[in-house]
Amino acid sequence: MFALKQQLIEAMAEMPVIDAHEHLPPEAQRVAQDVDLFTLFGHYTQTDLESAGMTQEQYDWLQDPSQDLDERWELFEPFYQRIRHTSYTRAARLAAQRFYGLDISRETYAGITARMKQANVPGIYRRVLADGCNIRVALTQNGAVQDDSHEFLTPLRPLASLTGGGGRDAVVANAQATDIFVTGLDDYDRVMQSLIARDADRGVVGYKTTSVAIGDPDRSSAAREFAAMLQGGEYDGAIVADWLTHRALDLVGDAGMTVAAHCGIIWDNWNNFYALHPRHMVPKLLAHRNTQFDLYHAGIPWTGDMAVIGKELPNAWLNMCWCHIISQRMSVAALDEWLDMVPAGKIIGFGGDYSKPVEKVYGHLVMAREDIAEVLAGRVERGTMDRDEAVETARMMLFDNPRDLYGLEV
Ligand SMILES: [Zn+2]
Repeated sequence: MFALKQQLIEAMAEMPVIDAHEHLPPEAQRVAQDVDLFTLFGHYTQTDLESAGMTQEQYDWLQDPSQDLDERWELFEPFYQRIRHTSYTRAARLAAQRFYGLDISRETYAGITARMKQANVPGIYRRVLADGCNIRVALTQNGAVQDDSHEFLTPLRPLASLTGGGGRDAVVANAQATDIFVTGLDDYDRVMQSLIARDADRGVVGYKTTSVAIGDPDRSSAAREFAAMLQGGEYDGAIVADWLTHRALDLVGDAGMTVAAHCGIIWDNWNNFYALHPRHMVPKLLAHRNTQFDLYHAGIPWTGDMAVIGKELPNAWLNMCWCHIISQRMSVAALDEWLDMVPAGKIIGFGGDYSKPVEKVYGHLVMAREDIAEVLAGRVERGTMDRDEAVETARMMLFDNPRDLYGLEV
């Protein structure tokens, strides 16, 4: 089993990868910021540090490169002892070893920092994403449409950029941006179609929403509230938002684009994550059958619910972005169950889900390959799959499936 798992990991290391979800800023933004060891403890590891007792003020100070590095290490070290074996931290350690040649410790923090500063120059995305990870494309949500300045990043936009969240100012701004005179809901459909067409021209391949529950569409009350909104009066924004969101889910599908949905666990602490239970996606999947949905994060912790959603709803694709750094054990268990229940052609194996610390995409991908290899090696061992089928299945999850879902030309 162990030898076979290693062979599969090596086979995957040769494969091209589509990184199916990131928040990476344009490279120019990353290299314009100062970095140090603690950059590797930004983003998700923040939640582990704070869960281990670090205050927000301490974290902010830790992340300020103008402060003394040695003093910050003194603050950091006892927290590092507490979180050094979490999956989030493992990605940071793997990144430090791969790109800066050192594991993280009291003896190495200054050396890693020096090497990071030296490497924080144009070309870092190529070195990390292409040379380090064999990533061809990273589907990226950084709040903007990319300005063509980066070859690796392919954008998704917020679904709310189409609906304006049902807010008057945003709806009016969208109407003005498209030069469409809006007197009612049908006119606003044309606004959204125009925005989608413009985004598609700029390389956008999908729109991102979340699994929060929304109301059913009710045309007559939506028309009434929308008219009141246009007239500048009091209106119920939730009714408008529900209607426009349902329309946007259809229009994105009509344009052949994909709706991505955050499902389950929330990235930072102190949230009621039950509000993002993947079950809230089911009414949307049923109501918008011509739209393909990319359901993120395995719906952690509801991976079994996701299996049934992926099995029973043809327009549901399951995406393991972020999963392997949340828990490798949970990811392995989920993927093994999914392969029993869900067509392998709808499972997407990897998305780094990072922003500033691009190096950790590599750490995450190493962990993803381990998890996928473990699941597939188990199947070969049990005789339900041969080795070639295991390699083929891995390739589908890392490359073919996200390419097909998003129609990527890679
Ligand atoms: Zn994300």
